[in-house]
Amino acid sequence: MISLGTERAPLNTDLRHDWSRDEIRHIYWLPVPELIFQAQLAHRAFHRPEQVQLCRLLSIKTGGCPEDCAYCSQSAHYEAGVGREPLMNIADVLAAARSAKNEGATRFCMGAAWRQVADGNDFDRVLEMVRGVAALHLEVCCTLGMLTASQAQRLKEAGLTAYNHNLDTSPEFYGRIITTRSYEDRLRTIAHVRHAGITVCCGGIVGMGESDEDRIGLLEQLSGLDPHPESVPINMLVRNEGTPLASAEELDPLVLVRAIATARILMPASRVRLAAGRRSLSQEAVTLCFLAGANSIFTGQKLLTTPNPGAEEDQRMLETLGLKAVELA
Ligand code: SF4
Repeated sequence: MISLGTERAPLNTDLRHDWSRDEIRHIYWLPVPELIFQAQLAHRAFHRPEQVQLCRLLSIKTGGCPEDCAYCSQSAHYEAGVGREPLMNIADVLAAARSAKNEGATRFCMGAAWRQVADGNDFDRVLEMVRGVAALHLEVCCTLGMLTASQAQRLKEAGLTAYNHNLDTSPEFYGRIITTRSYEDRLRTIAHVRHAGITVCCGGIVGMGESDEDRIGLLEQLSGLDPHPESVPINMLVRNEGTPLASAEELDPLVLVRAIATARILMPASRVRLAAGRRSLSQEAVTLCFLAGANSIFTGQKLLTTPNPGAEEDQRMLETLGLKAVELA
């Protein structure tokens, strides 16, 4: 049992999928030092605290997406200055994966700006990319939009480790961010991924104008998935010019820290990834995110289409903090 007040009970490492909104709210609003202490206990029960997994996320098909996600510069609904590029060729993707591996990444994620995967030539090429990245002994993740059960099965057979499909925010706030597909659509794709035996990467974004209660609602949804997503990316909004959220109010990084720490306590065995938005954070804020239980970052100059610290800069940061990149098994 996690202590919800100032008294501290011994940590029970059983995973729970029935956290109530009240319990989550109580954890989220703990005094920050207590919250971080509890998150550290949870973290250390399941993970080596000095280890951080480096991931690389490559946009393999950019722009022109028919969805209207209000944060996204790749949506065809907005003039965000991101051009349309067709699906990359396989050799270029595999070259990028090799380069990511040489720079210390152990997970390679491929993102395509599609509403859903269409069977045919493009999907066959993605399957070939998955086989090629898996042959490099990297964890392979894809984010391609909605999937059918049979497509999930084919990705599994090609060697896919994980499929990313974020819930983004609470069910209550979701309609303010995306109108072209429903929360239920997302949950259905996640169910197909799980059913195919692929691990689930599912998280959300903070800083979109949602309330604390919405962040708590998102965490309730994520921690209610059984099993928990093995990977929980928590993104800080990147306010992309030309998107409806370009002028969203800047979020206090401590809110991100609260969200990460709460995710760590609710889903202690999962890898919690400090994902987009690091460019807007000070090194001190990033350090607090690690203290709160984040144990993965995305490296490389670009995260899909948004700027991100480069591999060398991250290497220096890890050295400064005495953290170590997870190595290939
Ligand atoms: S987030 Fe994904 S689904 Fe939404 S508009 Fe961007 S590329 Fe399309």
